[in-house]
Amino acid sequence: MSNYWNSFTRKLDPYVPGEQPKDRKYVKLNTNENPYPPSANVLAAIKDAANDQLRLYPDPNCDELRGKIADHFQLDAEQVFIGNGSDEVLAFSFMTFFSPENPVAFADITYSFYKVYANLCSLSPKIIPLNNDFTLPADAFCEPNGGVVIPNPNAPTGRGLPIESIKYILNANKDQVVIIDEAYIDFGGSTAVPLIKDYPNLLVVRTLSKYSSLAGIRVGFALGQKDLINGLNTVKNSFNSYTIDRLAGAGAIAAIDDDAYYRDMAQKIIATRERTIMQLNAIGFSVIPSQSNFIFASHKTAAAEVIFHALREHGVLVRYFNQPRIDNYLRITIGTDEEMDKLMEALKDILK
Ligand SMILES: *Cc1c(COP(=O)(O)O)cnc(C)c1O
Repeated sequence: MSNYWNSFTRKLDPYVPGEQPKDRKYVKLNTNENPYPPSANVLAAIKDAANDQLRLYPDPNCDELRGKIADHFQLDAEQVFIGNGSDEVLAFSFMTFFSPENPVAFADITYSFYKVYANLCSLSPKIIPLNNDFTLPADAFCEPNGGVVIPNPNAPTGRGLPIESIKYILNANKDQVVIIDEAYIDFGGSTAVPLIKDYPNLLVVRTLSKYSSLAGIRVGFALGQKDLINGLNTVKNSFNSYTIDRLAGAGAIAAIDDDAYYRDMAQKIIATRERTIMQLNAIGFSVIPSQSNFIFASHKTAAAEVIFHALREHGVLVRYFNQPRIDNYLRITIGTDEEMDKLMEALKDILK
C-alpha cells in the first residue's frame, strides 16, 4: 500500500482470480474455462478482423453483435447491453441500479466478485445464508432489500435454481432490480430470459467465457427491458465508450452464429461431469448436484485443503476457498475425459 493511494483505494479488498500458472503444464481445472477450443469459424473471424481497419475505433454500440444476440434470444437490440466480460457488465450494473441507502442482497456462498463490487460502489451487502444443503432460501430474498444478485446456477456450488423460485423473487422485488447471472446456464439450468417481457426489474447477465470457450477475448452481455439497458449505457458511456475491441467483436458475432458447435461441446461436458461424479462417489467424495461445468466436492475423510495441495504436486489445479462453511470442499472444473482421468489417477494416488 502506498502513501499515494487515496483513502478509498486503501480500503478496497479486491477479487483474487484463480491462478494462471506459467511455471509448468498443469491439468487446469481451477477457473471454469471450457476445455474445448472455440469454433473454427470464431478463430477465422478473429484472424480476418486483424486487418488495417484496426487503426479505426470499433463501433461503440456494437450494433452488429447486439443484433445477433437479440435475434438469438428473440429480443430487440435495445434490450441488449454488451460489455468487456460479464464481470464488467456486473460492475456497471451495481453502479447503475443499487444505492448506498439500501443493501443489496446476495448469498453468503456465491460468486465472490459481488462483495467486491458492493465495496467498490460503497454499497452495503445484505448477506443471505444458503440452506445447509446449499439450496437458496428464496423467502429470504423477498425480505426488504435494495436489489438482488443471484447466479443461476450458483458458483461455486454448481446448484441450479428453479424458474419458479426466480419468479417468486421477481414478484416480491418489483421496486428494485434482480440480477440473474447466467454464466453457467447452458450446462443444464433453466434460463430466465423468457421472463424479461413480463418483468421490468429483471436483468439477465451472460458471458462468452464459459459456454462459448472465449474467456480470452472478454465479452459478456446483459438482457433486460429497454429502460434497464439505457441505464447501463449511461454508466458505460461515462466510463469508456469502446469496451469491445474489433477482434473481440468479430469473434463474438461468429460465436453466436455457431451455437450448434457449442451445444455439442456443452453436451460432452455434461456427460463428462456425470461420469466424473460417479467416479468421485466411488472413492468417498460427496458431490453437490451440478448444473454447471464444474462440481463442488467434499471427501468423507481427507481434508479438502490437503487434497488441494497434493493435487497441485501431481500437476492438477483445482480451486479451494478457505472460507467458513466451504473450507472442506474443492471446486473442480470439468475438463476433457482425458483430463478427468488424470484427476482420478492423482486422487487415487493421494488417497491410498
Ligand atoms: C466466470 C464468471 C463470471 C465472469 O465471466 P467473464 O465474462 O469472464 O467476466 C461472472 N459470473 C460468474 C458467476 C462467473 O463464474
